[in-house]
Amino acid sequence: MQILSTPIELSKSLKKYSSKGNSIGLVPTMGALHQGHLELISKSKNENDVTVVSIFVNPTQFNNSEDFNNYPRPLEEDLSELNRLNVDYVFTPDDVALYPKKQTVFIDFGTPARVMEGEFRPGHFDGVGTVVSKLLHIVSPSRAYFGLKDLQQFLLIRRMCVELNFPVGIIGVKTVRERSGLAMSSRNQRLSERGKEVAANIYKGLKKIEEGIRSGNQLNYLLETSRIFYSKIDEIEVEYLEAIDPSNLHSVTSCQNLKELAVCFAGYVEGVRLIDNLYLQFK
Ligand code: AMP
Repeated sequence: MQILSTPIELSKSLKKYSSKGNSIGLVPTMGALHQGHLELISKSKNENDVTVVSIFVNPTQFNNSEDFNNYPRPLEEDLSELNRLNVDYVFTPDDVALYPKKQTVFIDFGTPARVMEGEFRPGHFDGVGTVVSKLLHIVSPSRAYFGLKDLQQFLLIRRMCVELNFPVGIIGVKTVRERSGLAMSSRNQRLSERGKEVAANIYKGLKKIEEGIRSGNQLNYLLETSRIFYSKIDEIEVEYLEAIDPSNLHSVTSCQNLKELAVCFAGYVEGVRLIDNLYLQFK
């Protein structure tokens, strides 16, 4: 496993693979690796000749400096895990390597980036789009892997790559969960055991909506029922619970005529911001 921290070193090292026609898989992360990340990595290893994992806590996607400063950074543990997994390259740039000068150009995804995460974390997706564009240019991967846990991020990046002709396949990977149903997240490290138990209710509320839809109940009614379910749990503070059509990220109140539906949640438990979603495809 090679650990490189400048864009030039990494692009140079990868040239020898792309020139031979070998495929490269990229897994962008912010580190504090868990089973969810490992699923992305394992998929990339299965589908590509070479796998690159990047670890970078991207300052331009944080609108809250406390959240940025508190973000876990267990680099040594991450590197030994990646070494154990036999990853080919780890890219660990610092802020100066990726932002040598003040960044003045950002990706603007338009209205779909100003709802849900974009509404509550203004500017978040401008930073995500910018850093992902940089990584895609530096690595030139055949495929890049993103978790469906961050569904809005996945949908926007896929759209960016289509509309801006990035020659890469964007692969979405199903959310990996704890046995309790809690979606794995680096932020879970900041929860107490009790906090984790409470947070497992987030997925319960989403599953209630799925069951209701399968039994033919109205989406509007189900959203309201889950909002009431969450409101009865004092330790969960809901930021939003919203149903969207994933094809355009428009908010929806009924499943009629939809091929797919996502119900997205964001909220706080013990002061830690958690997101999760339900992603359903209809025949
Ligand atoms: P992060 O380090 O949080 O930026 O996440 C890096 C990548 O891992 C993103 O594409 C996330 O969507 C994905 N990811 C994070 N948690 C999970 C999970 N529980 N299951 C699947 N993918 C995940």
